[in-house]
Amino acid sequence: MTQQEEPSSRVHTLQQALMVAIQTHGFRLHYQAQNQLQTSQLVGLEALCRLHTNALGDVSPEEFIPLAENSGLIPQLEQIVLAQVARDLPLLYAHYPNVRISVNLSARHIAAPDFFTFIEAWLTGLPANIVKQLDFEITETCFQYISPQFVQGLQALRQRGIRIVMDDFGSGQSSLSRLHTLPFDVIKLDKQFAQQLDHPMVHAIVKAAIEFTRQFNIGLVIEGVETLQQSQTLQAIGGDIAQGFLFGKPAPLSHWLQQQ
Ligand code: C2E
Ligand code: CA
Ligand code: CA
Repeated sequence: MTQQEEPSSRVHTLQQALMVAIQTHGFRLHYQAQNQLQTSQLVGLEALCRLHTNALGDVSPEEFIPLAENSGLIPQLEQIVLAQVARDLPLLYAHYPNVRISVNLSARHIAAPDFFTFIEAWLTGLPANIVKQLDFEITETCFQYISPQFVQGLQALRQRGIRIVMDDFGSGQSSLSRLHTLPFDVIKLDKQFAQQLDHPMVHAIVKAAIEFTRQFNIGLVIEGVETLQQSQTLQAIGGDIAQGFLFGKPAPLSHWLQQQ
């Protein structure tokens, strides 16, 4: 579709639904586990946004997040998500005192002029001990467009104990040649790697990622682990933390508060 054409009726309906969800704070959050491979111990939970619409039913974030980014609605959407995360955090930490909570942040939101002011105010509203257990996930592609002001903002967050996670690592425009200059603490290896581990070249790349992150004391989370075989292969080559359907699908807060 060219830009001059009318948006398809699905896109139009979704756009309307997004605007309504923003006005009514009509998003839900699910949390997905991150587990230590060796022990299966829960070490993290990633907050993932959910949208249900009357007209279209459940819509995947793979569809509505890009639309929110392209229509300028992403800052409002993520501010609603962060407000909900702030309400959930005390309950989650009362139940799981040692887990880290990850939140996804879009490049379009971080690049907004008032982002760092907003995020400082959000952090100030949280208990100080909670701030140190937060991870902000930013897709690798976003680091391509990094400005000095952006670097400064991320460094200030890191100084408060927040870890910056480079999400979907290896899936798009690679930042490999500048990796040593970028402000991040954790790499999240894109799910395609775990899912193609039986290919010797993919296996070698994952092994190399495990080795270099260990050498430089960078965290590594391997996403998309779906089978026991993938988990065992990753353990054999020294993988530490994984996220994927093998350990559980994203689930609402109530699920997590009923566990243990
Ligand atoms: P992501 O950040 O890479 O999140 C992981 C996605 O992979 C989730 O999809 C999760 O359900 C899925 N996943 C986890 N384990 C497995 C597995 O073993 N196999 C497979 N096939 N998939 C797995 P989900 O929830 O549909 O979210 C899609 C994307 O939408 C997220 O990808 C993230 O980029 C974006 N997203 C979701 N919530 C937010 C948000 O609040 N803000 C922003 N900026 N993006 C969000
Ligand atoms: Ca993520
Ligand atoms: Ca990811």
